[in-house]
Amino acid sequence: MDANMRAMNGIKLEKAAAALSANGFGARVFGTGEEAAAYAAALPGVSAGMGGSMTARDLGLAEKLRAAGKEIVTHAPGMTPEERRAVWLRAQASDLYFASPQAVTMDGKLIFLDAYGNRGAAVIYGPKKIVLTAGVNKLSADEAAGLRRARDIAAVANNIRLKKDNPCVKTGRCVDCASPSRICNAVTLLWKRPLASDIEVLLVNEDLGY
Ligand code: SF4
Repeated sequence: MDANMRAMNGIKLEKAAAALSANGFGARVFGTGEEAAAYAAALPGVSAGMGGSMTARDLGLAEKLRAAGKEIVTHAPGMTPEERRAVWLRAQASDLYFASPQAVTMDGKLIFLDAYGNRGAAVIYGPKKIVLTAGVNKLSADEAAGLRRARDIAAVANNIRLKKDNPCVKTGRCVDCASPSRICNAVTLLWKRPLASDIEVLLVNEDLGY
């Protein structure tokens, strides 16, 4: 990304941060993912719940949190449904919970689209502090554009990543399928900060995740 694009994206991120603040969320803008991950790793807390997040992968977040002495509470391949349920419930009661929305709207709303909904539940209520990381690629003009982004970009890329046999991996866009392996089942839309939750959004001037 050249310096002019970075400057323009920086202005948009500051506008989105102001809108998020007006909606009751904490919001900070970081120039790089490295700076955002260092800030996240230094937050107080021992246990850190996480959902599956390509943004977290791009930030190397789990490694940095472990290096800071935090216990990562998340599912792992090979877990039984009962083990997943137990770890998801524990993640929801953790000191910190890290996730990434599929869209951040310019009027300060946050959109998540999930297969299971464990992440959607955790970003509404439960963890002592909820930390949401998002690259500039997640900015969307409004709620409608954010929902389109969640389905036509993030969900399609995730279907390809997960090697799902769903129609969007061939069409390249969401066709609102009825496939048994559909991964788009629960939308969480945060218009404003839920009253009992501490939510901070870390906006990064880099493309991160889907
Ligand atoms: S609803 Fe179906 S077609 Fe649309 S993105 Fe999700 S899995 Fe793909």
